Amino acid sequence: MSYEPVIGLEVHAELLTASKVFCGCSSKFGAPPNQNTCPVCLGMPGSLPVLNRRAVEFGIRAGLAAHCRIARYSRWARKNYFYPDLPKGYQISQYELPLCLGGTIEINTDSGVKRIGLTRIHMEEDTGKNIHDAHGDASLVDFNRCGVPLLEIVSEPQIRSPQEAGAYLRQLRTTLQYLEICDGNMEEGSFRCDANVSVRPVGATQLGTKVEIKNMNSFRNVERATEYEIKRQIEVLKEGGRLVQETRLWDPDREVTRSMRSKEFAHDYRYFPEPDLPPLVVSDDWVEAIQRSLPELPDARRQRFVQEYDVPEYDADVLTMRKDIADYYEEAVRHYRNPKGVSNWVMGDILRIIRERKLDTALVIHDWPVPAERLAALVQLIDSGEISGKIAKAVFEEMVRTGKTPVQIVAEQGLTQISDEAAIAAAIDAVITGNAEKVAEYCRGKEKLFGFFVGQVMKATQGKANPQKLNELLRSKLGK
Ligand SMILES: [Zn+2]
Repeated sequence: MSYEPVIGLEVHAELLTASKVFCGCSSKFGAPPNQNTCPVCLGMPGSLPVLNRRAVEFGIRAGLAAHCRIARYSRWARKNYFYPDLPKGYQISQYELPLCLGGTIEINTDSGVKRIGLTRIHMEEDTGKNIHDAHGDASLVDFNRCGVPLLEIVSEPQIRSPQEAGAYLRQLRTTLQYLEICDGNMEEGSFRCDANVSVRPVGATQLGTKVEIKNMNSFRNVERATEYEIKRQIEVLKEGGRLVQETRLWDPDREVTRSMRSKEFAHDYRYFPEPDLPPLVVSDDWVEAIQRSLPELPDARRQRFVQEYDVPEYDADVLTMRKDIADYYEEAVRHYRNPKGVSNWVMGDILRIIRERKLDTALVIHDWPVPAERLAALVQLIDSGEISGKIAKAVFEEMVRTGKTPVQIVAEQGLTQISDEAAIAAAIDAVITGNAEKVAEYCRGKEKLFGFFVGQVMKATQGKANPQKLNELLRSKLGK
């Protein structure tokens, strides 16, 4: 019997509002422990929450971008449980009436575009953070994160492979980043994911026993953990075993999931409507105004890149993965219109340096390896025949290192390509004279030696000979 996996994902996205969702404390990451706190987010008796309008606006932005229905009337609830990072003893969340319902996220798969349905997007407050001392002497708690606004984005169980799970998460994160409502930083925990995984015989309509996986803090971990879990579940069933509904933790070092708790011990959160907050009422005018303010979203921009710049789908995909990279690319193309030439540099060397320097952990890259205008100038120098592609690589590294313009570097270091036929011919003659034996071998049919001669001429000209002219001249001089 063969099995198919069924995956649903729950994403928690921290919103980039300046203040927390129910108080005026800063929601910025990285402050000294417990600095961003007040009686409200510390859950002091008698303190009252006041809803942050901006957080709701961000929630609606996400809902509209994912084609959800925006509820004009939603409600806050108390989710009751005890944990040291939750000073109130309950979390304010939306439960039976969430802000956004339905919706879809489009992903690219090997067999074309696939729409993954959303169940809902609701708002809630984040908890604090327990910090366990490595020596086991003490546990500390930091309440800075307590009350930071969160969106919980719940997908339908329509994801059918670890690759689709990865594609869904990337697309969702890209969308939130385009909306400028979440920085999507998985390492800092502002974009977190839990996965519900089950398997069932191919053709079955009923869902199998589902297992929830937690603790995956990168896309790669989500793909690996779901892959492991699918294999584990299929093995259990093939051996005639039974699966239990449980929560499992991904162990990235050993690459296995481990049982954390079974559903028998699941919490009963005793949800009830939050008495300190009125129902959330959203006007049509407000939703329409937010709709009008939405930026061009990744899908639309990707399609436009293919049409307007005539770049391959793959390039458009990579270039529009982040809004700032797409902006950078378009700026470079405005300065010099060779869309594919510019694309190659952005996808290659620019992205490589961005990753090496971890510049993409911030929502917006400020510290570009080179300004877009200068990258454009470099591509122009190659196209005009001024420098060769090989020299351009060295010029680029020099631009990154020194901050100089490509024109300046080429002039200072005398890197201008030699296109003058007489100069190239002289270099070829010298190589032919100096390698009489090899020339003889070549003439007897050892054609592989052609590359050797090219190399020698390039060496003699410090790599500056125009490769096309060099090839032509060398061929005619060797009599082929
Ligand atoms: Zn506060």
